[in-house]
Amino acid sequence: MEKIDLSQRQKKILEIVKTSGPISGEEIASRLNVSRAALRPCLAVLTMSGLLEARPRVGYTYAGKDAKSLYADYMRRFTVGEVKSVPAVVREETTVYDAIVTLFVEDVGTLFVVDEEGYLQGVVSRKDLLKTAIGGRDLLQIPVAVIMTRMPHVVTVEPDVDVVTAAKKIIDYQIDSLPVVREEEPGKLKVIGKITKTTLVRMLAEVSG
Ligand code: ADP
Repeated sequence: MEKIDLSQRQKKILEIVKTSGPISGEEIASRLNVSRAALRPCLAVLTMSGLLEARPRVGYTYAGKDAKSLYADYMRRFTVGEVKSVPAVVREETTVYDAIVTLFVEDVGTLFVVDEEGYLQGVVSRKDLLKTAIGGRDLLQIPVAVIMTRMPHVVTVEPDVDVVTAAKKIIDYQIDSLPVVREEEPGKLKVIGKITKTTLVRMLAEVSG
């Protein structure tokens, strides 16, 4: 993001236009107690840098973006493929017991379940595993295929969409994690990554410095 250093006078002008715009150059000059001519270079800089908009017969209005839209612009600059991380994947016949072990070993909260060719079949979350664990069944006997959320109910995302699209899916479906998939044949989705709430928080931390 390009940083613009503003003079004290330019900052004052911005404040005036933000609170009182649209406002004429004469009016700004009189509020600052300077001549219109003295103001001209400042107004030119602010207009050219896109912070102010000058409209004939209307005056100056504030055109700078607020922090919210700057953050949205930042998020939109990245595709899912650029920020995805490595997914933890298990096979359908993996037992619930081994799935729990994998959760610890791989230090993740969600496992994606694939068939022998690596195509997505389902997803298992922490709570799916906890629910089974408190059910009193033999965890060494139950395959994850029995307890997973299965296709076609798995919410996925493709690598070429922007990060905001992925974030909206995570919120809309109230889930922690999305598999990033590539459709190799109709209905056959290869898992090539994941986008999680952690991915989004990491991006927020990065943009916040
Ligand atoms: P947790 O269960 O640990 O709170 P989630 O909120 O991600 O984790 O999962 C809630 C439910 O949604 C679980 O039953 C899980 O199987 C399911 N789920 C998780 N991720 C997805 C996904 N990408 N698509 C569809 N369902 C999912």
